[in-house]
Amino acid sequence: CGIVGYIGTQDAKEILLKGLEKLEYRGYDSAGIAIVNEEGVHLFKEKGRIATLREAVDENLTGTVGIGHTRWATHGEPSKVNAHPHQSTSHRFTIVHNGVIENYSQLKREFLQDVTFESDTDTEVIVQLVEKSLNEGQTVEKAFRQTLSLLKGSYAAALIDEKDPEKIYVGKNKSPLLVGIGEDVNVVASDAMAMLQVTDTFVELMDQEIVIVTRDEIEIKNLAGVTISREPFKAELDA
Ligand code: GLU
Repeated sequence: CGIVGYIGTQDAKEILLKGLEKLEYRGYDSAGIAIVNEEGVHLFKEKGRIATLREAVDENLTGTVGIGHTRWATHGEPSKVNAHPHQSTSHRFTIVHNGVIENYSQLKREFLQDVTFESDTDTEVIVQLVEKSLNEGQTVEKAFRQTLSLLKGSYAAALIDEKDPEKIYVGKNKSPLLVGIGEDVNVVASDAMAMLQVTDTFVELMDQEIVIVTRDEIEIKNLAGVTISREPFKAELDA
């Protein structure tokens, strides 16, 4: 399983699909991508091979920002509905996630009693909690940090906001995640291999950190909101 994210100037869908193909070796049962452009978020997901997903993606869709996922089901059977990305009730927020949220049923009970869930995944709790915090008056970044601080378990996650499509919010705990740095382009991936097509320069994320990724900047923070600086490294791998 794995995640990818892209914000740049090229056709995001092709880069995300290629990135997911590079992650196939990690194993998966379904795959999906979300592309955000001026019309909104476009979601494609399928049970089975990335080749099947590729056929389902609208060839004419243009967009330079998106996230992608290969799923290894832990909560909820492998199916199109349970495949990622997942969305909040209003569909404003879209997320991909690798890992396991151990306290998801407790979080549902405690905070999300009146939410109707679309999937059986633990992941959907994350995106619904972000929306709930936002509705309670938080900024998106604060809602994201606050949500992550409630989670027990492992995650590598990337979130997009339909109302602010020039940003990808990324978080990590006990699952691998790298941010790739390019010129007018930044990317996210579970494994550098997925994004060597774009850049060979990466920044490592530590547990319980978030990154706010835009086209020309990345900003790392801890869950309390304190900015962290970290030097990039060059990946020495063959694409
Ligand atoms: N726990 C999540 C799910 O079952 C993510 C699984 C994964 O890491 O692919 O949907």
